[in-house]
Amino acid sequence: MVGTGHSWSDVCHSKEALINLDLYNKIIHIDQERKTVKIQAGIKLWQINEQLDKVGLALSNLGSIDQQSIAGAISTGTHGTGINFQILAAQIIEFSLIKANGEKIIINKNNDENLFNACVVNLGALGTISEITLQVTDAFNLHDQTETIDFDSVIENIDYYINNNDHFKLWWLAPTKKVVVYRYQRTNNPRRGSKIKQYIRDRFTSVYIYRLLVLMGKMFPFIAKTINSILIWDLRQPVDRIEKSYKVYNVPPPLSTAKQNGLSTYNKQKKF
Ligand SMILES: Cc1cc2nc3c(=O)[nH]c(=O)nc-3n(C[C@H](O)[C@H](O)[C@H](O)COP(=O)(O)OP(=O)(O)OC[C@H]3O[C@@H](n4cnc5c(N)ncnc54)[C@H](O)[C@@H]3O)c2cc1C
Repeated sequence: MVGTGHSWSDVCHSKEALINLDLYNKIIHIDQERKTVKIQAGIKLWQINEQLDKVGLALSNLGSIDQQSIAGAISTGTHGTGINFQILAAQIIEFSLIKANGEKIIINKNNDENLFNACVVNLGALGTISEITLQVTDAFNLHDQTETIDFDSVIENIDYYINNNDHFKLWWLAPTKKVVVYRYQRTNNPRRGSKIKQYIRDRFTSVYIYRLLVLMGKMFPFIAKTINSILIWDLRQPVDRIEKSYKVYNVPPPLSTAKQNGLSTYNKQKKF
């Protein structure tokens, strides 16, 4: 099985046949009362986010990108941040698995917790996950406070950051002495912040400028240090905004085209 093919490892590189569920990507049912959603396993996280948002629901936690298939994300233990939150797979109540002999089994967390825990993070080794039921939550906003801070100061206060923020992550652009610190708090306050600034950062700077810098760093590794210094300089302006949760969790997609039709990059580029 291959989802979006975004795993860092070669876990789904193969010269044999690969199965992909890009087009098996619908929401089957939303139960507003129980706040559960049943989905086809090829659906991408961004598709789930957008469709849940329309009915006032949301995934309770996410990682840094939204291009993954839900099956790929849970099979690898994909996680966001937050001392009080678990991996994405923890939001699953039930999933169906088609085994190599064609038999379909339903694995339910409440009915057989041991089987569920043994199978949920599976690296595609157990068969094809075909449908998944998720426990979701009411849609919520996040207060995003992002700033660059001295490396030593962040490390000294790391426990404070972890324990006093709903979500906390840091990016160190070595070898600079600064760290980009992302702090997100859940809030019921209304959205605020410059939409234009964010649009430029998300859709232009991050996608075109950063991608170009990464490409240059790959071609000429000796300039990587300089590139990181430029990036840290560019990120020096603090961000203080309140936005829908799924928009804050996700950094802008490095491959913006993947969103157009929901096809995996590997499907478009015939990478495998
Ligand atoms: C820019 C970037 C940022 C990232 N950020 C984060 C992050 O913040 N947190 C984090 O934890 N990870 C992160 N990752 C890693 C990513 O979330 C995982 O690698 C995830 O598995 C990718 O999902 P995918 O759909 O591309 O899966 P793939 O890479 O295509 O597949 C992953 C595994 O899932 C299996 N699989 C796929 N579909 C099925 C199916 N239907 N049934 C059974 N098995 C299946 C495959 O066989 C494979 O073993 C990031 C990756 C990138 C490229």
